[in-house]
Amino acid sequence: MKTRKKQQQQKAKFAPFLLLLLIFLAVSFMVKNNWLDELLAPVFSFMEAAAGEPTNEQNPNEQDIDAEEPTTPETPAAPDQESEENESQPQEPEEEPELDYLILVNKEIALAEDYVPPNLTIPSVRFSQEGRAEIKHLQAAAAQALEELFAAAEEEDIILYAVSGYRSYALQKSVYNRHVQNSGQAYADRISARPGHSEHQTGLAMDITSKSVGFGLKTKFGETPEGQWVAENAHRFGFIIRYPEGKEDLTGYNYEPWHLRYVGKAAAQTIFEQDLILEEYIREYIDAAR
Ligand SMILES: [Zn+2]
Repeated sequence: MKTRKKQQQQKAKFAPFLLLLLIFLAVSFMVKNNWLDELLAPVFSFMEAAAGEPTNEQNPNEQDIDAEEPTTPETPAAPDQESEENESQPQEPEEEPELDYLILVNKEIALAEDYVPPNLTIPSVRFSQEGRAEIKHLQAAAAQALEELFAAAEEEDIILYAVSGYRSYALQKSVYNRHVQNSGQAYADRISARPGHSEHQTGLAMDITSKSVGFGLKTKFGETPEGQWVAENAHRFGFIIRYPEGKEDLTGYNYEPWHLRYVGKAAAQTIFEQDLILEEYIREYIDAAR
């Protein structure tokens, strides 16, 4: 009797340990099979909702990018995707307007007398005349784009000639003064810029011509096959006709089918498609997005 009672007492002593062991084994088995996560999932999601934790749907970094940089006008519906693509695909910067090339110079806004654009280089294109090297220069990006434009034109038997690109403040001063002497100030202001007010000082503008107009800068260039090709295709290379026909009141300049201004592909595309002048584009797409 005594010994059997002792055995029972010993069993009872071990019972809690057995129970703990069973629970431990059961829980281990559930964890191993991911049952526990599934069982507790509703509890966790309820706790997150109650705590108001943000989900991962909105990446705050993307919002910062949109706030600092203007969205691309052609696809305003998906700006987030847009900025992601640009980060992972830097080889397509034309998706976003390039602010460096949207510098605005007009009759109201002038460049400083000592402003000299960066990266001036002479594009490898045909020029209508040899002569002073200064006016052959463009900013590097514009120079490369001009080379591509001229090459694409030539593939369609359109032979273009560059005439005049970068002009320093000093050179523009002498050009303008010569126009005033020859034609009077009122007319000079319609066809030439006062010093500091010329786009040619930005290194982003190039006057071009063709043999069909005697290599000059003439309005009828716009009616030639060369001028029409340029009007229809320049935007593909980031250029615009800066002083279009019918916009003289807005630009303050006579129609200049020969004056190309580099603004980058994204801006040029929108300006072309929406028939804008640079001032309108900057106001509607750049300033409005700031
Ligand atoms: Zn010009």
